[in-house]
Amino acid sequence: HASERPYRVAVVGSGPAGFYTTYRVMSKIPGAKVDMYETLPVPFGLVRFGVAPDHPEVKNCQEKFEEVAASPDFTFVGNVSVGEQRDHPNGNTVPLATILQHYNAVVFAYGSSQDKKLGIPGESALRGIYSAREFVGWYNGLPEHANLAPDLTQGDEAVIIGQGNVALDVARMLLEDVDVLRKSDIAEHALATLAKSRVKRVRIVGRRGPMQAAFTIKEVRELVKLPDVGFHPVEQGLIPSDLQILPRADRRRMDILRKESLIPISEGIKKSWSLDFCLSPKMFRASYPGEQQLASTIFERNVLKPSPFVPEASVYGTGESVKFPSSVAFRSIGYKSAALSEFAQFGIPFNKKLGIIKNDGRGRVAHDGDEHFSALPGLYCAGWVKRGPTGVIASTMEDAFATGDVIVEDYASNAQSLNDHQKVSGWEGVKRDAKVNKARVVSWADWQKIDSAERQRGQAIGKGREKFTSIKDMLAVLG
Ligand code: FAD
Repeated sequence: HASERPYRVAVVGSGPAGFYTTYRVMSKIPGAKVDMYETLPVPFGLVRFGVAPDHPEVKNCQEKFEEVAASPDFTFVGNVSVGEQRDHPNGNTVPLATILQHYNAVVFAYGSSQDKKLGIPGESALRGIYSAREFVGWYNGLPEHANLAPDLTQGDEAVIIGQGNVALDVARMLLEDVDVLRKSDIAEHALATLAKSRVKRVRIVGRRGPMQAAFTIKEVRELVKLPDVGFHPVEQGLIPSDLQILPRADRRRMDILRKESLIPISEGIKKSWSLDFCLSPKMFRASYPGEQQLASTIFERNVLKPSPFVPEASVYGTGESVKFPSSVAFRSIGYKSAALSEFAQFGIPFNKKLGIIKNDGRGRVAHDGDEHFSALPGLYCAGWVKRGPTGVIASTMEDAFATGDVIVEDYASNAQSLNDHQKVSGWEGVKRDAKVNKARVVSWADWQKIDSAERQRGQAIGKGREKFTSIKDMLAVLG
């Protein structure tokens, strides 16, 4: 590798996967240059737009990302979307074809921009049903969902379908004292709506039992600790009586549920929540035919076989139906990644069912043959688009490091890369060829201006940050 030809890497997406892969590559390949493309004018993906506003400590990883971005070998290309995955008003799109021409390696780290649907009657017709993805985006100031305006005034009872940590985040936002949220970086529009919310009773409903549920103890503990919020006991027979035999994480989770189930809800308590197990959603209903507003959610009761205590237990419907009054419902059954529209054209394999780019398990984009993988030279993936939309930032980091390591391995072994025999010029070449001039391209220095403007706006109203919730307002800071 001649020194006058720096190894150039395009990273698509500026979430944890993009940054941790960049960190690994830049620290192990001297002189490697990384250009990071981001659809939005602002970086950090779900660290900014997913992680709950009352979890500021989780966002500390941003300091590491800022360190990475400070390197002269790093270029942030914000407000530039790769491929035509999204309708992108006020932003730029560059074709994947152009990216492929100007780099030695391309890393897809663009996360999961869609969500799974339940596919049950009433889901798209009735008012009052939201996806957790849009609700989370809304309270976190994501431009795409800034105008969601969820209606939390139709009644007292909310149903959340799904029992992962995102479901518990949504529940906490509905139950937490607005004055506590006020100090966080939650969007002001969300604060105003939550302050007027009538929701008092939150049910978090799952298909299976506590032993199979995806939430972790930290999130349960936070909910049970909320002042003036009661917890309804878990249905009997679902928590094993002998917890000693369980692995540590399960034991602690079951222990907190068992203990909290014994504490009666004190009188006069205003808000309460429950974990409702072994129920599959079947239908959303209005109070009478022709009415548009959601009034109830119908579930079918399940049994778990061979036993609710077996982690891999299977679900069987019993035919018994259960109705929960619901003036608002959230489906929180998972995020989903989509292929970029040009993938087919370049033979980049995508597993639609899992919503992941096919890869060799380490990070090389690859076709899976019967026996072995055939990698597409120079193409890599990391994060949620590589392994599916599960896992915390720490697991995304490990996964991105693995991708960084295969890039380094391929570089060191002189394995074939993209554009092996010509000098590539990265973003300079892309900018020229793709005529990126529709909207302002946001550099890292530009982002730092937006960042400090947001902090100033926050300080003026007693919080750390007040985000801009439209791309137009973000760009307006830059003049
Ligand atoms: P993302 O963070 O989604 O980043 C992808 C980036 O790519 C985005 O910025 C996106 O705009 C950009 N992009 C998309 N398409 C394109 C394109 N075509 N061109 C250019 N850019 C593009 N983890 C924790 O550890 N603690 C928590 O408390 C926590 N809370 C969470 C709460 C919610 C609601 C969610 C959804 C997740 C939470 N997580 C939490 C998990 C964590 O956010 C993920 O593990 C991590 O963000 C995944 O990283 P990623 O880089 O793969 O994707």
